[in-house]
Amino acid sequence: RAVVHWFKMDLRTRDNRALHMASEKAREAGVPLIALYILSPQDFEAHLTSPVRVDFMLRTLQVLKRDLSSLDIPLWVETVDKRTQLPGRILELMTDWGASHLFANIEYEVDELRREAKLVRMLAGKGIAVEVAHDTCVVPPGQLKSGTGNQYAVYTPWFRTWIRFIHDNPILLELSDPPGRNPETAREVFSTLYDCDIPSAPETKRLEVDDAVKLCALWPAGEHEAAKRLEKFCEEDIGSYGKNRNIPAQQGTSSLSVHFASGTLSSRTAVRTARDRNKTKKLDGGNEGIQTWISEVAWRDFYKHVLVHWPYVCMNKPFKPEYSNIEWSYDNQHFEAWKKGLTGFPIVDAAMRQLHGMGYMHNRCRMIVASFLSKDLLLDWRMGERFFMENLIDGDFASNNGGWGFAASVGVDPQPYFRIFNPLLQSEKFDPDGEYIRKWVPELRGISGKAIHDPYGRGASDKASKAGYPEPIVDHKGARERALAAYKSGIERD
Ligand code: FAD
Repeated sequence: RAVVHWFKMDLRTRDNRALHMASEKAREAGVPLIALYILSPQDFEAHLTSPVRVDFMLRTLQVLKRDLSSLDIPLWVETVDKRTQLPGRILELMTDWGASHLFANIEYEVDELRREAKLVRMLAGKGIAVEVAHDTCVVPPGQLKSGTGNQYAVYTPWFRTWIRFIHDNPILLELSDPPGRNPETAREVFSTLYDCDIPSAPETKRLEVDDAVKLCALWPAGEHEAAKRLEKFCEEDIGSYGKNRNIPAQQGTSSLSVHFASGTLSSRTAVRTARDRNKTKKLDGGNEGIQTWISEVAWRDFYKHVLVHWPYVCMNKPFKPEYSNIEWSYDNQHFEAWKKGLTGFPIVDAAMRQLHGMGYMHNRCRMIVASFLSKDLLLDWRMGERFFMENLIDGDFASNNGGWGFAASVGVDPQPYFRIFNPLLQSEKFDPDGEYIRKWVPELRGISGKAIHDPYGRGASDKASKAGYPEPIVDHKGARERALAAYKSGIERD
């Protein structure tokens, strides 16, 4: 009597592989398509989903509901108390609706794969078919092998193979059509499903009203906004992306990560749109900004491939096991100062305050604050990884874990651990006029010239202390030596 598409982190109607398959199946069988979304507050807790991210997802569901409704497709949303109830509840709904097929896109994290395996077994036992699709990556995990037949652990050779593989398999960039309209009878048969309200956020994930209003203006939700942003970026900024992408004071990057993370934009659409603007009509060659941007979107795929091949990274373990025995400092005062943006290192503090202000942080700054936490403060990188997930609007396990592993030298980075960022040099190089610092650290707005990067070391102590800006909590040179020694003895202890 019906076919069901289960929405997860793929909250869009355009170019959605499993949704398209579901729609085709429903059309062939001459039955309605029902869309399903299940909210699991326990999953939000377990996955550290930030309130800003929950808010964005709920706003996205509103848009999705409207879009589906215009095709006479109902979106049924409900909440389960316990995450373990989810497969059982889906089975109940499928049975109530007399549905024969469930479609979904695969999520690759360990918890999700286990949940899906349970669901498939449960539904198969009742004669209900489950079909899943690879959707979130341009190249599905498992497809790319090095010359020796192994999964790549280094990005650059992986990326070369990624490009070649897509050029050899152009179908990977073919977009799926949105679902077709439901038969007229659908609204009669499933009338109650059309009135389903989108719930509000669970209490622990609720935003203050002022924050909700601000975030809504900063990050408009839904696939139409994603498409508009992509179009604008490709029209205005992609050409100079290579030059501007590392300058946090500029709007030089796409700000699309929130859409990739919620699935309001597919990476296929993104890569294809950028490629079509390249005069080579390929992923490589031609416009440098376009090539660089595509190579950044590819990092998303890369980290998902890593996670699938080395699933222990989902279990709080470093990618490089030999880095498991570093003695971290666990200094709580340092961690609090880092979290609040009160370390006395202006570029670090500006970045952490951007995170609190926007639920977002520029990529260069993510690298700076992650290096600072793990090397200068010698704090366990997992504390930072966790804090990011709890606060980012674009929190994505694979990219976040990969980014932290990289910055803390415990991940898929061929560089050895002794590459340690100097926050002062990073600040001078990437925020030369201190524009980003002044935007996010109001205490330092009155400080001019180079002193902005290091007010206490460059003769602006009076102004900084009068404005209540803290002195540096560590000395970078000494902290660097401490980190080198701790990493070295950690590895030797292995
Ligand atoms: P653009 O520069 O416009 O790039 C386009 C897209 O490419 C991004 O939207 C993103 O999907 C992808 N991308 C770019 N750089 C990376 C990268 N280094 N790794 C993976 N994908 C990338 N990204 C997330 O989406 N979620 C996270 O939770 C996350 N955590 C991070 C933690 C650390 C410590 C670091 C160093 C990086 C992290 N990143 C994360 C990657 C990156 O910082 C963001 O994707 C980027 O800043 C988003 O801004 P944008 O959309 O303007 O990016």
